[in-house]
Amino acid sequence: MSHLVLEGLGKSYGSVTAVEGLDLAVERGEFVSLLGPSGCGKTTTLQMIAGFASVDRGRILLDGGDLAAVAPNKRGLGIVFQSYALFPHMTVAENIAFGLEMRGIAKPEREKRTLEAMALVGLKGFADRYPRRMSGGQQQRVALARALVIQPALLLLDEPLSNLDAKLREEMQGELRRIQRSVGTTTILVTHDQHEAMALSDRIVVMNQGRVEQIGAPDAVYGRPSTAFVANFLGKTNVLKGRGDGAGRVVIDGFVVPVTGAGGGEVALAVRPERLSIAAPGADGFPAKVTSRVFQGSHWLLNAESAAGPLILMRSNDGGAVPAEGETATICFAPGDAALIESGAP
Ligand code: ATP
Repeated sequence: MSHLVLEGLGKSYGSVTAVEGLDLAVERGEFVSLLGPSGCGKTTTLQMIAGFASVDRGRILLDGGDLAAVAPNKRGLGIVFQSYALFPHMTVAENIAFGLEMRGIAKPEREKRTLEAMALVGLKGFADRYPRRMSGGQQQRVALARALVIQPALLLLDEPLSNLDAKLREEMQGELRRIQRSVGTTTILVTHDQHEAMALSDRIVVMNQGRVEQIGAPDAVYGRPSTAFVANFLGKTNVLKGRGDGAGRVVIDGFVVPVTGAGGGEVALAVRPERLSIAAPGADGFPAKVTSRVFQGSHWLLNAESAAGPLILMRSNDGGAVPAEGETATICFAPGDAALIESGAP
């Protein structure tokens, strides 16, 4: 049985539906991110799991048991927020040991586990420091140690890195992943940052307007988005308009691609910029006129116009020819690199 199960979860605030019909099964030890734009319902979902927001519809099961009747402080969860919410009058060690003290753990055990947690998050030697004398990244490590020291059933993270500058944030992403792997705690992260979700997660839940758009491994969700929303939210993409022939093929200005599930009439395919290629002379493809060409070091970024719509493509700086602005190139892609986002008539 899955470790955490959300079943038809829903919540409304007055006439605003914050979350609706959310189904999710999280396996033990998994790292799952709830990803989506502001207001899509990710924090509300996390708060229902934590018990800080009531559940209007559906159920939350942890190890098969319904959490409805379990008070927040009895759920045994470790929570880290964007604001570290450390106790300013307590040292690092006191902050971390607080949860153990509340649980009546004896002093020798408390001290041992606090030291272990400090070592885990890379804060050895900081026991007597006060939070105000630490950097944002260090404070967030204390918050993480404080959440993990109680050996929680679940670790809930609500935008924990968004107060950190870009470089520190990237560093902490690596740290967070390493720590989560080493303790194996089932983790749910809320983030609006697609790079963060992709870097950290085993699976991503893409949310939009209170509903799930797609659930999958980062490369699957990025490479094979099931909706235009997912395609656009997870980085740059091309939405290519073509015509389905009703026999599982899509035709884009003469270029014929087999696409499973494609119907007849108007069809749209999502293809990532790095998966569009410039065809060799005489090879299959469709024409596109290059409108701009920008050098970015390791690659060129090209914008082009085509009958399928505007295109953006990356051309590796590998010494090969790169079409100039105004030139017409032949564009192609492998069938496996196209995700069907509008399937046409059945
Ligand atoms: P953000 O990234 O901005 O925190 P979010 O994806 O976490 O956004 P939620 O905070 O879950 O989204 O909000 C979902 C919807 O519910 C929004 O329309 C929001 O305005 C509304 N909402 C959230 N909390 C409350 C509340 N306490 N009272 C009324 N409406 C709320």
